[in-house]
Amino acid sequence: AAMRAQSIQRTKTVCTYCGVGCSFEVWTKERHILKIEPTHGPANGVSTCIKGKFSWDHINSQERLTTPLIRDGNGFREASWEEALSLIARKFTEVRAEHGPDALAFIASSKCTNEEAFLMQKLARAVIGTNNMDNCSRYCQSPATMGLWRTVGYGGDSGSIHDLEQAGLVIGIGTNTAESHPVLATRVKRAHKLRGQRLIVADLREHEMAQRADLFIRPHPGTDFVWLSAVTKYILDHNLQDQAFLDQWVNGLDEYRASIAEYTLARAEELTGIAQDTLQQVAQEIVRADGVCVMWAMGVTQQCGGSETSTAISNLLLVTGNYMRPGAGSYPLRGHNNVQGASDMGAMPNFVAGYQKVDDPEVRARFAAAWGTDLPASKGLDNHEMVHAIHDGTLRVMYLKGEEMGIVDSNVNYVEEAFEKLDFFVVQDIFFSRTAQFADVVLPASPSLEKDGTFTNTERRIQRLHRALEPLGQSKPDWEIIQLIANRLGANWQYTHPGEIMREIASLVPLYSGVTYERLEGFRSLQWPVLPDGSDTPLLFTDGFPFPDRKARLYPAQFIPPVEVPEAEFDLHFNNGRMLEHFHEGNMTFRSPGVTSKVPGTFVEVSPDLARERGLEDGRYVRLVSRHGAVKLKVLVTSRVQGKQLYMPMNTQDAQQAVNRLTGSHTDHSTHTPAYKDTAVRMEVLPEL
Ligand code: SF4
Repeated sequence: AAMRAQSIQRTKTVCTYCGVGCSFEVWTKERHILKIEPTHGPANGVSTCIKGKFSWDHINSQERLTTPLIRDGNGFREASWEEALSLIARKFTEVRAEHGPDALAFIASSKCTNEEAFLMQKLARAVIGTNNMDNCSRYCQSPATMGLWRTVGYGGDSGSIHDLEQAGLVIGIGTNTAESHPVLATRVKRAHKLRGQRLIVADLREHEMAQRADLFIRPHPGTDFVWLSAVTKYILDHNLQDQAFLDQWVNGLDEYRASIAEYTLARAEELTGIAQDTLQQVAQEIVRADGVCVMWAMGVTQQCGGSETSTAISNLLLVTGNYMRPGAGSYPLRGHNNVQGASDMGAMPNFVAGYQKVDDPEVRARFAAAWGTDLPASKGLDNHEMVHAIHDGTLRVMYLKGEEMGIVDSNVNYVEEAFEKLDFFVVQDIFFSRTAQFADVVLPASPSLEKDGTFTNTERRIQRLHRALEPLGQSKPDWEIIQLIANRLGANWQYTHPGEIMREIASLVPLYSGVTYERLEGFRSLQWPVLPDGSDTPLLFTDGFPFPDRKARLYPAQFIPPVEVPEAEFDLHFNNGRMLEHFHEGNMTFRSPGVTSKVPGTFVEVSPDLARERGLEDGRYVRLVSRHGAVKLKVLVTSRVQGKQLYMPMNTQDAQQAVNRLTGSHTDHSTHTPAYKDTAVRMEVLPEL
């Protein structure tokens, strides 16, 4: 027994499946994963969900990429690293010489580490010379970040998960928290049950949190901005605002007030379908509560007005004095494990690491001094613009790591056509993804258990993950691959460990200035901003907002109505989201038999009323057709959805069933986040088999 125990290794890591950032020890013996043991997680204590506990079999999947692949006619052949890297260096150099640096684009992964996102943007900016750089927060949380920048100055959760437990009232808008952020939801559920915390949920679908809520409201799709603004106006009209807070800490009240003048309760009822007395009740709950936290997610952000609604949330919190105190504030719930970190690290077209503007000469001068080269000054292309630029012929090369863009971007038929037009496409992943089919070179990367680094969770908490297993076959951690490519292109990077990359990050990114690996030993963590002395910030804004006068700003946002309102030809509203058991496009969880045996695939939820009207029952196949494409799916009749609203989990193994065969290319006006939730379809019932 003693010998057996000796060969068992316990390694601290951080879950790679969602932004809650649960940490735990993984017990391994050689390559076998014996156990996941949460003990001291700062975000999760001793909890995990099904994904964190059981979804690790993919690490040893037969389908892992273990060698570079190079396109050979219609297929691929195995290649050495030497050959693959030489080809990449040659193509990148040729295209840059002939068409300029902006003919290349780079996409980092919000599943990878901070250190890897940092190197990816350094490669794009310092080695190639382009700001064509993005990450998948473009698909989810950019509008939330925009709403917070406009109003309070930091694009992150204003407090910690602990604050959600302390709040007198939690409001969840467009977030299926119990399935998408399970451990965080458990903590809210416990506070609701044991502490008498109040819970209001606004959503289309009656999911678990909606069932538990004290008040569940179902606004018409895409109209959250209206009810939020009407509630805020009601509070101001009845003098229920926190005037002392407004006087001391907030600018712009008059202009903001004028901007929401039209949103009377009557107008809001007309536009949202929520009764006026219900809206009054929401307002009363907010002003009565001892601390209000608002959590929101894709139901808000993946709309044409996602940034505007996120702004409206923050405005409401400012008017009611719900910042600068424990148990209050804004909580955009980050989806992937490192959505927050990938953006913090500058994997974006307009910011170099640390949200420092690329068009600010002082910022560029500092980075140029550190990196020994000038940086490009004008904003680059975001994901959405990249796809159009490939169609236009101005973007010719793409290097994408750890993103299944060929399934998760909206309107994937259009995206696939773009991939086909690329001169040269490098995909770096742990599996031969759907997107990899379009690549010219596929590079084998290592998953989280095979590498060192840090992730930053939804509450801005930076945590260390340690290598539990050696990279499989010839796969390598992403940071090593990026360094190899950079050096082939003439750089002279000498990182031997991600800790050295973090030292560079700390020296260039004020939010991370006090972050060191020593301060992240074991289960220790730091929430940004981290000062040079190592003190961190669990609760933001305690001594003012990060603007020159230290005051927040009420921002006069505007209502942007949905574009695909159901009508005669496309008569149903098509909603989509996650399910508990699977992670996103499912490349990892569908390769974990423990999970897939329970939930083998996707389906479409149909309301009992619609099922009756169309003569449908569970298991019947239907074809959903939108303006952009079609999918064939099994029906699940459930009262979670109502009327003519459908819901489909995005998690699928079958690319032909992807949600994004149906979604269009319209986006949030401010950030270009696709309006996935703004889609109308018709449903054709297929003959019984
Ligand atoms: Fe992982 Fe999120 Fe589940 Fe925690 S709640 S175990 S971070 S998927």
